[in-house]
Formats: sequence, C-alpha cells, structure tokens
Amino acid sequence: MKTTVVNIVTPDGPVYDSEVSMVIVKTVTGEMGILPGHIPTVAPLTVSAVRLKKDNNKTDIVAVSGGFVEIRSDKVTILTPSAERADSIDLARAKEAVKRAEQRLQNKQDDIDFKRAELSLKRAMNRINVKEGNI
Ligand code: ATP
Repeated sequence: MKTTVVNIVTPDGPVYDSEVSMVIVKTVTGEMGILPGHIPTVAPLTVSAVRLKKDNNKTDIVAVSGGFVEIRSDKVTILTPSAERADSIDLARAKEAVKRAEQRLQNKQDDIDFKRAELSLKRAMNRINVKEGNI
C-alpha cells in the first residue's frame, strides 16, 4: 500500500512523525482526506483532531489547535501552535480550562476577551474529545 510521511510540528518541536496511508484533517472549509500523491496544497486548519490511518488499520489521533497543513505528493506537514496525542493530554487541566473559559464567556468584558475565551474553550473541548475518544 502507498504511504506518505506526516510531520506535525509545533514551536516546541515535533509531535508526530510517521508514514501513514491516509490523513484526515479539518480545514476551515471542511474535512479533507489526503492520500499519497495528493496535489500540492496549503490549507488553514481549525482547532480539531487529525486522524492518521496506518497500514495496520490502526488510526493515530492528534489534537491540533489550528495552524496550516502543507501537502506535497510524498509528504504532509502540519504546522500548529500546539498539538497533543491522547496519552499526553492532561484531562484535569483541560477541564479546568473549560471552566475558566466558560466563566470568562459569562462575564464578558470586551470583544477581545470573548474571542480569546471562545478559542480557549475550543482548544480545551478538542483535547477532552481526543482524550476520551469522542472524535
Ligand atoms: P491552558 O489554559 O490549560 O494552558 P491553553 O489552551 O491555553 O490551555 P495552549 O496555549 O494551547 O494551552 O498550549 C500551551 C502548551 O500547553 C502547549 O505545549 C500544549 O501542548 C500544552 N497543553 C495545553 N493544555 C494541555 C492539556 N490539557 N494537556 C496537555 N498539554 C496541554
């Protein structure tokens, strides 16, 4: 089966580097399934789970907080501000982040705080979903 190399990279370093048979990402315009040999593209990502299908029928899941996917025929690179696999997600921390964000959304001071709280809530919910396998 054909495979493509996938790298998921954050400012803190690489989080994922493997050969996979398919990558499924959520771009701002919708879900995208990427197979080896895909035409070169760059697309912005939402706060979402990246699904990486391996040859052995297993699927790796990585939570990403937006960023970009760059597709080349033999390589997919995801550049994102932060990324975690389920085993490195601290569920209690994400739940605390949800609480904080919800409080901020209730006592909204201005539009900037509201937007920041909304994004924080999305990141935390995404981490919880990946940790609990709800994707
Ligand atoms: P928090 O409010 O808990 O810091 P955040 O969404 O503001 O969450 P980010 O700015 O997205 O955090 O990420 C900062 C760093 O912390 C990144 O390295 C990210 O991978 C890590 N991180 C954030 N939340 C978690 C979590 N629940 N479990 C593990 N790592 C996390």
